[in-house]
Amino acid sequence: LERSRNLSHLMSGCLSSPIVELLQTIGTIADQFLFNAFVVGGFVRDLLLRKANIDLDIVVEGDGIAFARKLGQHLGGRVREHERFGTATIILPQDLKIDIATARLEYYEYPAALPTVELSSIKLDLYRRDFTINAMAIQLNPEHFGRLVDFFNSQNDLKQMAIKVLHNLSFVDDPTRIFRAVRFEKRMDFTIARHTERLIRNAVKMNLFGKADDPRFFTELKLLLNEENASPALERLAELGLFPFLWPDLKPHLSIDRRFRHCLVQTQRSIAWFKLLYLTDRYEPWIIYLLTIMSRSSMTVLANFCDRFQLPQRNRTMLLSEKQLADNASHHLSARSELKNSDIFVAFRELHIEGLLYLMAVARKTEVKKAVSAYVTTLRHQAPLLNGDDLKQLGYRPGPPFKKMLEALLLARLDGLTSTRDDEIAFLNDYFPLSDGH
Ligand code: ATP
Repeated sequence: LERSRNLSHLMSGCLSSPIVELLQTIGTIADQFLFNAFVVGGFVRDLLLRKANIDLDIVVEGDGIAFARKLGQHLGGRVREHERFGTATIILPQDLKIDIATARLEYYEYPAALPTVELSSIKLDLYRRDFTINAMAIQLNPEHFGRLVDFFNSQNDLKQMAIKVLHNLSFVDDPTRIFRAVRFEKRMDFTIARHTERLIRNAVKMNLFGKADDPRFFTELKLLLNEENASPALERLAELGLFPFLWPDLKPHLSIDRRFRHCLVQTQRSIAWFKLLYLTDRYEPWIIYLLTIMSRSSMTVLANFCDRFQLPQRNRTMLLSEKQLADNASHHLSARSELKNSDIFVAFRELHIEGLLYLMAVARKTEVKKAVSAYVTTLRHQAPLLNGDDLKQLGYRPGPPFKKMLEALLLARLDGLTSTRDDEIAFLNDYFPLSDGH
């Protein structure tokens, strides 16, 4: 080993004791199998940066699946096995997940492998990774617990805040790594090293990924758009010449123009606004960004995008319907001179948060932006004071009209026509008189 630093102190300082104990357990069980076991990748990178990361990627030099079964049994977790790849995932309570991979000698046949054959399998495993900063390991076997395995001078690159590939064919082997490079660069405020950037530009020039049918392109794009602030990463993708590949139909697709940049900033703002108000609500930022990017494209162009990148049906349906609903709502509301709360409610009620925040970001009219704000913060939470039981009590016969009546009550309430229960009862008397057969 080039460097042999021991990180056990750093580990006990930065990690919670259950995680440290879990890593120790992994090492102890590996010893029973006479395997070497390592935690690798982003976990090690983040530990050295003193950042929390609870995704455990484990590599064992030996049968990873047999090992995972034993470990899963010991920890009382669910084990999903992927026989073909020699990998397994152990799902533990509290969202904790352990991925286990096998470092196998067959990796020697890999075309981009180093010419020498005197390599340990962990070294080959690390050599096949995306960037030097992600290619470190920490040994877990009790005798060597905490030993940092750094074959590629990764510690130095981490210090220099540099994103570097491990070999010149890296992007030829796997062009999705370009998205990863940009994602890490912007997330950590690192820089893609000069040679690595040249390799990216070459790969783009060679049109290495004319085909987008590897579903990992979409996976990586999604991860990039879900980062804390996706705008700088998008700018970087444009600058590296990736927009024609991603959005060939986008009109000024070679650069990000002023209006486009403005929309991206607005998207970021509307997401931040929502997050501040509804900390625990779940939504998918990547959908909002994609809708913004394609806001001036037709439905067909969006559908083509979904086809080309093989989006799962669920994502495709969501994107298309949110665009349609949001664009219609915007059109409808823009045409009105005065907006009643009930108009806003009816226009927006089928939209998800993603579509609403998209609309907030791209709407040209202030009234539309304000309408989204009012809907998200108050209107969508409103309900009439009376419910179905009350209607029965009042003598109405239960049935399909109940829905219409409750809706009318809600809209009246939104527009301030009613405020007390008595107002609502009076409203029903006016619009749904009992003698009418209701
Ligand atoms: P994050 O912090 O976003 O989870 P990560 O580094 O943990 O980042 P993952 O996508 O979870 O990233 O991947 C785990 C590890 O697997 C990486 O650290 C890297 O070593 C390796 N890896 C992932 N994708 C690739 C790829 N396309 N090519 C090579 N190695 C990869």
